[in-house]
Amino acid sequence: MRRSLVTLAALIMIAWTLMAQQDAEPGLTGFSADGSRTERQWEQKFRSAISTDNIGGYAKLLSARPHHVGSSFDKHDQEWLASKFKEWGWDVHVESFQILFPTPKDRVLEMLEPTRFVAKLQEPPIPEDPTSNQQNEQLPSYNAYSIDGDVTAPLVYVNYGIPEDYEELERMGVSVNGAIVIARYGSSWRGIKPKVAAEHGAVGCLIYSDPRDDGYTSGDVYPKGPWRPAEGVQRGSVVDMALYPGDPLTPGIGATPDAKRLKFEDVKVFTKIPVQPISYADAQPLLAALTGPVAPARWRGGLAITYHVGPGPAKVHLRVKFNWDMKQINDVIARIPGASEGDQWVIRGNHYDAWVNGAQDPISGMSAEMEEARTLGEMAKAGWKPKRTIIYCAWDAEEPGLIGSTEWVETHADELRAHAVAYINTDSNSRGYLNASGSHSLETFMNQVARDISDPEKNISVWQRRQLRRIAGANSGEERERLRSRATWPIEALGSGSDYTAFLDFTGVASLNLEFSGESDGGVYHSVYDDFYWFTHFGDVGFVYGRALAQTVGTSVLRLADADLLPFDFNDLYSTVRGYVSDLQHVAENQNSEIRDRNREISEGAFAATSDPRRPLVPPATEAVPPHLNFAPLQNALDALNQSADHYKRVYARVEQDGGAVLGHASLAQVNVQLLQSERALTDDNGLPGRPWFKHQLYAPGFYTGYSVKTVPAVREAIEQKQWSTAEESIDRVAKVLENEAAAIEKAAASLEHAIQ
Ligand SMILES: [Zn+2]
Repeated sequence: MRRSLVTLAALIMIAWTLMAQQDAEPGLTGFSADGSRTERQWEQKFRSAISTDNIGGYAKLLSARPHHVGSSFDKHDQEWLASKFKEWGWDVHVESFQILFPTPKDRVLEMLEPTRFVAKLQEPPIPEDPTSNQQNEQLPSYNAYSIDGDVTAPLVYVNYGIPEDYEELERMGVSVNGAIVIARYGSSWRGIKPKVAAEHGAVGCLIYSDPRDDGYTSGDVYPKGPWRPAEGVQRGSVVDMALYPGDPLTPGIGATPDAKRLKFEDVKVFTKIPVQPISYADAQPLLAALTGPVAPARWRGGLAITYHVGPGPAKVHLRVKFNWDMKQINDVIARIPGASEGDQWVIRGNHYDAWVNGAQDPISGMSAEMEEARTLGEMAKAGWKPKRTIIYCAWDAEEPGLIGSTEWVETHADELRAHAVAYINTDSNSRGYLNASGSHSLETFMNQVARDISDPEKNISVWQRRQLRRIAGANSGEERERLRSRATWPIEALGSGSDYTAFLDFTGVASLNLEFSGESDGGVYHSVYDDFYWFTHFGDVGFVYGRALAQTVGTSVLRLADADLLPFDFNDLYSTVRGYVSDLQHVAENQNSEIRDRNREISEGAFAATSDPRRPLVPPATEAVPPHLNFAPLQNALDALNQSADHYKRVYARVEQDGGAVLGHASLAQVNVQLLQSERALTDDNGLPGRPWFKHQLYAPGFYTGYSVKTVPAVREAIEQKQWSTAEESIDRVAKVLENEAAAIEKAAASLEHAIQ
């Protein structure tokens, strides 16, 4: 008797614990309690079906040969992708565009003085690496959308070739006017380097990978290790994507056969000067031949030379000519129709074109997408019906300038503005931590998804792993305490560099970009060595992070497609924008005090007194002190945004009171449409100052940084570029956009209130 009592007590304890555990699993935002349980079952099925063997199989097949735009293997991959979607039950079609895609015809780089040297411009095969010898199909190393050119001039080393580097050159008394510059890769997107060089009067531009940033200084080089070997070259586009991405001939419209195209001479996004990327093997003799001032300490790379700036005596001849051909590109678009809200679209994409074999960029992401597609197809056959339409895209021509996705978005812009819920992008994937960037109305959502994904190396959730890294990296106990108390980690703002750009910046579709990164070494980016052999020795070797990526993206897609109420959250948006605005105020104030202070140093002779006559530095020029800007319109708009975000949150709290049961029967169609439109309110049809294609007013790639983001770009860049009246106007314009956003959220809150009464 006593014994069975103990047993009974134990059983009760077990049951109690199980119930508590079940209770502990929180309901999903936007789902009723029942809906949440069903949804979790489907998501669980989805995640357990994702196979690393399948992902590895797709990766091997898709990266077997070079597959750049217009190549026969690019077409092979496209046909294979389309056939797989079809086999897995998706409704699939191919959308084609005609775009301008230059390939190299003639490339010569030689040093004429003080000694003669001819650059190889060639990546040799590596015996262990079975695809590195496919030279007949490899696109030679070049920078796409460099203009044709034939120039001979003295050489100047310009460090990373960003605007600050030219300020420093000026102080050294070195001009690049009439020179060919040599810049190292890094610190900015590559297309910025020739743009800034040309603005300073250079006539040609070489870009090389320095071993300090990308080579033996970091670790063993390929094939012994993952880092860039001496002759490895980073290809890549240098089109001015900060003006507009996509086909250079058709800004803002789809590059369909009958589209009205710009004349070649009217295109503004080509470089102004010829450009050629080179290896550090080819760069070393050129750099070693420079004299002039010794490069500042921060400019010195990892080569065994004393870095000088020049100009000369190295005199260099650069000749590049291209086949300026039109090519057909082919996007694969596959759908699973929504059962009840079919005109609300959840979109997901990755590109499949590569510079060469591209096992990492882009096939590591593309093969994860295909495994999601296979699994979703199987679930649909097993009776799962998404509420909303799911659209999976495989983009062509991302590498030359995000062209496949941009042309598709421009062609379907009106439909996307009406129907798109969100766009989820992936591209290269490696190992480590979930790196999530995107629209801040999806920040809470992304955190919820990340809690349900298991990290393959640590057996904790990918949410927890990232959270613990944030804590480990904090600078103080106080900072760590603050991080522990936060229920969400922040997602980063998106600049550019992959196919989300047109969705977010041109049409205002809420977007996310997801990848695992932080643990992989790498030095084969955009070279012939980014291939299956490299990836299966040094990348995500067993494709376990490919599986984690497929699980993360697939869970996100399922949840967005199935939710009764779209899981947007505006408190995160408000607090993020508030952070941007206070940062802008600091930037403006600092700039003001820095200029005052420097002017004073100039007038008291501090620069003249500290200039070493043997290494003379020119004092900087006196600058006008900027006016104080009036941020009140932005602050007032922030208050409105805060109020409406809070209002929406209060109404949603009422939904949750009865476990969300009301969501099971309320009529939410109107609220959902208003929610999916909310990101659109953050755009302005006129775009950013000087670049109308970029319509989003919170995020954009920097005009002088390329990929990396400028938040509240109209205001921030006007301040940085010291254009005070533009800054004032932009403050008003962004404030108006935030007021519109507040009104849109207010409407959604009112509709939700009405729907649950
Ligand atoms: Zn890519």
